[in-house]
Amino acid sequence: MHKYVYLFSEGNGNMRELLGGKGANLAEMTNLGMPVPQGFTISTEACTRYYEDGEKIAQDIEDQIYEYLKKMEEITGKKFGDPHNPLLVSVRSGSRASMPGMMDTILNLGLNDEVVESFAKITGNPRFAYDSYRRFIQMYSDVVMEVGKKYFEELIDEMKAEKGVKLDTELDADDLKKLAEQFKDEYKAKLGVDFPSDPREQLMGAVKAVFRSWNNQRAIVYRRMNDIPSSWGTAVNVQAMVFGNTGDESGTGVAFTRNPATGDPHLYGEFLMNAQGEDVVAGIRTPQSIDQLKEVMPEVYDQFAAIADKLEKHYKDMQDMEFTIEKGKLYMLQTRNGKRTAQAALKIAVDMVDEGMLTKEEAIMKVEPKQLDALLHPQFDAESLKAAIPVTKGLPASPGAACGKVYFTAAEAVAAAENGNKVVLVRLETSPEDIEGMAAAQGVMTVRGGMTSHAAVVARGMGTCCVAGCGEVKMNEEEKYFLIGDKKVCEGDYISIDGSTGNVYLGEIKTVPASMTGDFGRFMGWADEIRTLKVCTNADTPRDAEQAVRFGAEGIGLCRTEHMFFEADRIKAVREMIVSKNEEQRRKALEKLLPMQRGDFEGLFMAMGGRPVTIRFLDPPLHEFLPQEEGDIIEIAGEMNMSVADLKQIIADLHEFNPMLGHRGCRLAVTYPEIAEMQTRAVIEAAINVKKATGLDIEPEIMIPLVGMVNELKFVKNVVTKTADEIIAQSGVEMKYLVGTMIEIPRAAVTADEIAQEAEFFSFGTNDLTQMGFGFSRDDVGKILNAYYDKKIMERDPFASLDQDGIGQLVKMAVEKGKKTRPDIKLGVCGEHGGDPASVEFFHKIGLNYVSCSPYRVPIARLAAAQARAKELLNK
Ligand code: ADP
Ligand code: MG
Ligand code: MG
Repeated sequence: MHKYVYLFSEGNGNMRELLGGKGANLAEMTNLGMPVPQGFTISTEACTRYYEDGEKIAQDIEDQIYEYLKKMEEITGKKFGDPHNPLLVSVRSGSRASMPGMMDTILNLGLNDEVVESFAKITGNPRFAYDSYRRFIQMYSDVVMEVGKKYFEELIDEMKAEKGVKLDTELDADDLKKLAEQFKDEYKAKLGVDFPSDPREQLMGAVKAVFRSWNNQRAIVYRRMNDIPSSWGTAVNVQAMVFGNTGDESGTGVAFTRNPATGDPHLYGEFLMNAQGEDVVAGIRTPQSIDQLKEVMPEVYDQFAAIADKLEKHYKDMQDMEFTIEKGKLYMLQTRNGKRTAQAALKIAVDMVDEGMLTKEEAIMKVEPKQLDALLHPQFDAESLKAAIPVTKGLPASPGAACGKVYFTAAEAVAAAENGNKVVLVRLETSPEDIEGMAAAQGVMTVRGGMTSHAAVVARGMGTCCVAGCGEVKMNEEEKYFLIGDKKVCEGDYISIDGSTGNVYLGEIKTVPASMTGDFGRFMGWADEIRTLKVCTNADTPRDAEQAVRFGAEGIGLCRTEHMFFEADRIKAVREMIVSKNEEQRRKALEKLLPMQRGDFEGLFMAMGGRPVTIRFLDPPLHEFLPQEEGDIIEIAGEMNMSVADLKQIIADLHEFNPMLGHRGCRLAVTYPEIAEMQTRAVIEAAINVKKATGLDIEPEIMIPLVGMVNELKFVKNVVTKTADEIIAQSGVEMKYLVGTMIEIPRAAVTADEIAQEAEFFSFGTNDLTQMGFGFSRDDVGKILNAYYDKKIMERDPFASLDQDGIGQLVKMAVEKGKKTRPDIKLGVCGEHGGDPASVEFFHKIGLNYVSCSPYRVPIARLAAAQARAKELLNK
């Protein structure tokens, strides 16, 4: 018969998958000889079976539960349901990964009218007995039968009002007994059946409730946000109760071995006397700090501090512990690796290396890569923030904190910034004309727009703080003020905004700048020592490139040349190029663009100081550049000596039904080779100029996008090499360059061996590869994905985290085929996935040379790459 139930003494800390985190750690603490109330764990496999069996607990599992309940009775010397010597238990959920607050716990299970009465006598403490009983009814109703907590809390409040008392501890035994009765009546009124008095029925009801809670909406959302598969299931712990609510020599508390906000290496926590369960965190009464336990119960404190120390050394990580004191005796109820802020995570990791507790490889595993993001932006000073109250809230569109004077137009923001002011740009919504204002501002706030609005996307790219979509704000742009309720904010007034929470505050809140030094610097230094995967950046401007280098980028993996075309002074020349009727006209327009592009590339090569730079040739569908507004159309027609009607006809002719599958990428270079010619000229001349000026050894990498067939690449590559070789020969400067391609069309992955005959490097464009591999339009798939999550067809967004089983296999195949043809082929990735930790690990494993991501994700990718390598080293 399969084993579904384990005594705490049968398990250990490595059995998380089977026993869940809480169960495994209760077992581990038991093995370490710590004072843990004994019990058993029903495994995660039982949860999976429960769902397989159509949400039923199978007979064999139920039998095992009762068998282990018997063993518990033997261990504790008490009997479940026996009024004269009752065993009371808690029923606690616990999945493999901790899911805080997801599934609730039931305490004091096993009580009923008869048991509680004699329990009151045996303990000589009727107040305590009835307090335990009313708590049980309350939790059971809430968790098992989903009768809202609210009703019970109302009844408690009424009772307190009736008695004229403030605290729950001031209610006496009779009050609590009455409350228990009222609770049961409430239960019956809500559910139409009596509160279950049979302890066995209570137990099975509670176990089922825990299994069910695995699939409640909160749990599902939490899992999706944290990449926890729904197949894991949760375990259930059944544990003998100990009581913190017997009176003033009992209590309950929570503590961390180090401060989870700052990392300060001292015990940190709170406790509450005469309390049970989550009273400490529920804010019922004000708890005392753990240091005060030294005075209240010095021996218990010493014992607890020793256990905490032992646990931290044992797990080699900061511990988050829950304990209860029953009549002066300490019991440990939980330990786990504690959640912590990014700042604390770094300090703890670095301190633990200095203390000799961790190796560097172990230490770098202790920080969640995504957490680093918080450290790359300015933050509000914690002390100043305490006193501040937000006046409204928008979307946390781009992280960081900003404080400055309000300006309503980009031009005024720029002017104010030039005069040395800190500025927050406030707009209804932003558009491309606002970019300079956004760049000059500390932060951007908009009234309209979502997480993918212009303001949000551009601010994130710049690393500027942004709060978008503050719908409560009433703007008066003309008179230069806005209202939030009755509060008026005028131009020049200070506001503070938090792009990590979306909060908006009036007045000044001090900010502290991001710092890459100190613990952060040392920690990232270790990450760089360990990792083998290089990290490059996606950058189109010297400003982004410099930022990325400060964040540790080792090169540019993707420069999107079309981004250089969008700027106001260039778009005209670009439009001329597109609507040209013949090659001659087109060459004339391209002539205008050449010096601009060359200048851009010079800037990039300078900023990167000889590090590799990969430049992708023009990629987007042409129509994106076309004039839409009548005024623009008339102007361009005039400049190009054509009639407005003619120009409109050309625009209409360029219309495509599926632009993403249309005239873009290398197809542009095939139809208009002169575009590739101009871009080659710009790249090579810029490289020569910078080499001449600085002596830096520059080896540009030219990347041809959207290749599906080797013949496409061959054609464009010929254009490139012919142009480049001529320029180099004439310049007399020695210069090497590479020509490679993106692998982003499934056919390219499948024929990567052929393509590698021409390509000197591959860069996987996993955004398009995902789009075309799944046949999902990236821009429209949101709605479909939501339905897919609901119906459990998919668990996460394949554009955010690489689909390793499908799209990832295309990448892997292309790597293998490419290497077969060209063993030294350079391999990288330049999609969004280059900054996603799980994807980075995958890219490390399949042997890519580098990943490339946006500047602010470079540190995240460095750490993720180091962790991928450290995992291999630690598992050896
Ligand atoms: P969560 O996962 O939400 O932290 P727990 O299962 O840890 O839930 O239970 C919450 C609290 O209930 C614990 O911190 C502890 O105070 C109390 N508790 C749980 N089991 C027992 C027990 N056997 N005896 C006394 N208190 C318990
Ligand atoms: Mg909880
Ligand atoms: Mg807990």
